Amino acid sequence: MAFISTEEQVATVDVVAGNERIQAAVRVLLGELGENPDREGLIKTPERVAKALRFLTGGYEQDVDVVINDALFSVEYHEMVIVKDIDFYSLCEHHLLPFFGRCHVAYIPRDKVIGLSKLPRLVEVFSRRLQVQERLTNQIAETITAKLNPLGVAVVIEASHLCMLMRGVEKQNSKALTSAMRGVFRTDARTRTEFLNLLGFGNGDGVLRTGPERASDDGHL
Ligand SMILES: [Zn+2]
Repeated sequence: MAFISTEEQVATVDVVAGNERIQAAVRVLLGELGENPDREGLIKTPERVAKALRFLTGGYEQDVDVVINDALFSVEYHEMVIVKDIDFYSLCEHHLLPFFGRCHVAYIPRDKVIGLSKLPRLVEVFSRRLQVQERLTNQIAETITAKLNPLGVAVVIEASHLCMLMRGVEKQNSKALTSAMRGVFRTDARTRTEFLNLLGFGNGDGVLRTGPERASDDGHL
């Protein structure tokens, strides 16, 4: 027989009650949108939405230290480590609509490296929350800085935002580009240039080419 602690029982009851409240809210929402929440196609929608939202915001429940799980190794290696093209999906906190794309992470170790598979996991911890792209970019860079104390960290995210694309706020297919540069990536143009050139973003001058300008907060209706 499985033993369930009182703490676990309380947590389970909380989650169940929370999911019931989400479902009730979704039913109200469907009604307010002019739908009949009791018609066949929608009857299970509140339950599905609650489940989907819990999954898509599962990053709130994850602990960075547990994710890293001691996958830090001491090395004498001070060259750039890059993990490119990490696919991610997130939800824009202004509209609760998806934004998604690719994240590129680079760092230069001081005395520690992290298992390469952990970087996509870190991206997931922060992308599975309600986010804005700028904060997501910074949180990934700051976490790597805090955990590895590297000589430098660079994070670049390119993403499509459905809140812009579906409403025609921006040209179709336009992408928002954000970057966070720390340490030598900030202070040394040559290091930054090498990284951006490896990603195909550089122009040889260490300046990130942002392509179509990202809508400012004002334009992000
Ligand atoms: Zn939005």
